[in-house]
Amino acid sequence: MDFKPFIRDVNDFPKTGVIFKDITPLLNDNNALKAACQILFEKVHGQHIDKVVGVDSRGFIFAPLLASKLNAGFVPVRKKGKLPYETLSESYALEYGTDSLEIHADAIKKGEKVLVHDDVLATGGTAEAVCKLVERLGGEIVQCNFLIQLDFLNGAEKLNGYDIKTLLKY
Ligand code: 5GP
Repeated sequence: MDFKPFIRDVNDFPKTGVIFKDITPLLNDNNALKAACQILFEKVHGQHIDKVVGVDSRGFIFAPLLASKLNAGFVPVRKKGKLPYETLSESYALEYGTDSLEIHADAIKKGEKVLVHDDVLATGGTAEAVCKLVERLGGEIVQCNFLIQLDFLNGAEKLNGYDIKTLLKY
């Protein structure tokens, strides 16, 4: 299936000069939604996964779908201050300044096999911080998968050493 017709370019979102890849047309289409999920699932190649970690907020759409298919649990990584229980925190660089992501301290047990998922890999700062959180809890990252990889931003360089899988590259 060709997924590119289901990705909409939105100019100047969230700010002037940015061309935002909008995944909502893909989510909106019953066949595209199901097929995208199936392909990401198949790219795991039957490897055992204990936990699928999804990144706030668009990573929360496919991560639980994948977790259900993989017979794994789902773990949310959220922006600062959103998780209610004890957390670990990791900061990452934004274009201007920094922000931080948090995970619940008991979300992953030492040695558990983890799939990290987000909708888009851009500069890689977000996914890198998520991987650090997972590893600080003793999780073993089996793969990081994304719907979209923006190759021209070289995010994969920040995830050097991890198995990266994507549905679409630009
Ligand atoms: P990075 O840290 O790799 O630069 O940015 C990735 C994060 O920003 C992801 O959580 C992703 O949801 C969001 N993001 C960055 N650019 C886009 C985009 O063009 N489309 C969408 N849907 N998300 C984006």
